[in-house]
Amino acid sequence: MVQVDLEVRGEEGSKMEIDIKKQTDNELIFIVDGVDVPFINAIRRICMMEIPKMAIEDVDIIRNDSTLFDEVLAHRLGLIPITSSTASESIIFASECDCGGHCPKCSASFILKEKGPKVVYSKDLKPEDPDIKPVYDTVPILRLKKNEEVELAAIAQLGIGLEHAKWEPTTACAYKYYPKITVDDNCDSCGMCAEECPRGVLELKKDKIIVVDAENCSMCGTCMRICPTGAIDVGGEEGKFIFRIETDGSLSPQEILTKACEVLSEKTDRIIEFC
Ligand code: SF4
Ligand code: SF4
Ligand SMILES: [Zn+2]
Repeated sequence: MVQVDLEVRGEEGSKMEIDIKKQTDNELIFIVDGVDVPFINAIRRICMMEIPKMAIEDVDIIRNDSTLFDEVLAHRLGLIPITSSTASESIIFASECDCGGHCPKCSASFILKEKGPKVVYSKDLKPEDPDIKPVYDTVPILRLKKNEEVELAAIAQLGIGLEHAKWEPTTACAYKYYPKITVDDNCDSCGMCAEECPRGVLELKKDKIIVVDAENCSMCGTCMRICPTGAIDVGGEEGKFIFRIETDGSLSPQEILTKACEVLSEKTDRIIEFC
């Protein structure tokens, strides 16, 4: 269990507790206790919409013999996740660059030159900078028949999800209240709630209903609807949430969460200055 000073709420001495339940390269699930809905929702929205990542923005198509329209090809290239950990430190937003076009300070380029017959995949997109490349090798781009060719240059730039969905680093970012399941004395131990629970949250043991996996509860309400005596109640614990971030691989969920906290902190600083 990790304890964090809850300075952002402005409540001196209050603490938030973070308990990490799952951590992989592109998924993070944690329980956060001691916060309110506006805070956790602000973090969620910033994770989705305000964390910069790289995506292909400009495409110069020299040759495209495939049946795919140039516009569809360009759109498809824009949606390919690009590694952004290094870029988010070394590349600046194009709008902040004085080059007026593309330069190594504000962009990264790729070349695609293939001849059929073959399926062209993201791994065929050759990056100029080896640290800024497609996250996955196997995203299909187009199919070329015999002797058909495709040749293009693509430019990736830094952006945020507020501008376009291709710059959203998260593929899922959501929270739910931590489930609070109570069974009162009206329970007659019929066991129907345990039988009908689709998530295996409840078990009947020694004539008693036991909550065996509260975090897996989807709060579907089936147990409450089926209970003949109204003995079971499912709600959410005030101030306690289960938060899940899944990314497209361009940034790790830890990077996204850390940056989201920094963005929220900067925003609150600006509000305090303004007041
Ligand atoms: S359905 Fe209701 S009465 Fe039956 S075991 Fe569950 S809580 Fe108890
Ligand atoms: S609300 Fe749904 S998932 Fe949760 S314990 Fe009841 S039946 Fe199971
Ligand atoms: Zn530039």
